[in-house]
Amino acid sequence: SEFTRLGLPKPLVTALSRQGIESPFPIQSIAIPDVLAGIDVLGRGQTGSGKTLAFGLPTMTRIAGVKAAPGRPRAVILVPTRELAMQVTDALEPLGRGLSLRMKTVVGGMSMGRQIEALRRGVEIVVATPGRLTDLIQQGECSLEEVQVTVLDEADHMCDLGFFPVVSALLQQTPAGSQRLLFSATLDGDVDKLVKRFLTDPVTHSL
Ligand code: AMP
Repeated sequence: SEFTRLGLPKPLVTALSRQGIESPFPIQSIAIPDVLAGIDVLGRGQTGSGKTLAFGLPTMTRIAGVKAAPGRPRAVILVPTRELAMQVTDALEPLGRGLSLRMKTVVGGMSMGRQIEALRRGVEIVVATPGRLTDLIQQGECSLEEVQVTVLDEADHMCDLGFFPVVSALLQQTPAGSQRLLFSATLDGDVDKLVKRFLTDPVTHSL
């Protein structure tokens, strides 16, 4: 399939096919090879273009094969709201099963106990809102030291909600030189600061 030609492994392509997804949307054709190559990506534009799979599929591919140690996720997807976190998890979790990737939604307003249990067992991918992830790090239940890929989804919305300082602090805890993908409808103000501080020679794609 076209997804195979973009460099995605068979278990992912099979899982996509089971959902009736056979050919990539334009943003996916463009972004997937960049993410697989380890390049930082800046995606600008609205939702509905297929950006969740554009960042999710290659992120899962990059981290597959190495199990996360307890409390040490290998990829973090930061989103502004609980609802978006659940949407992203719902879209990606079934696809990642064939690669043995464990995911957990880490958001406020939901049981912290279950989130802690999952982290202690080990999860490769955390889909989080910034506040709850920060709480769990401060409680010693999570560390970002093993993070290989960080995704900031709807970065403008996160900044509008006042998360700029918290998101900056989280990014600072990921390894220097680790891969970062930032998606945003606008690229001014605080979003621009995030880009300048945390993305290295990013390629920019319009959704
Ligand atoms: P998103 O922009 O990530 O919210 O995705 C918008 C919608 O498009 C979601 O319902 C996806 O399931 C769907 N979608 C994403 N990529 C594809 C694709 N390559 N083929 C068909 N549907 C897709």
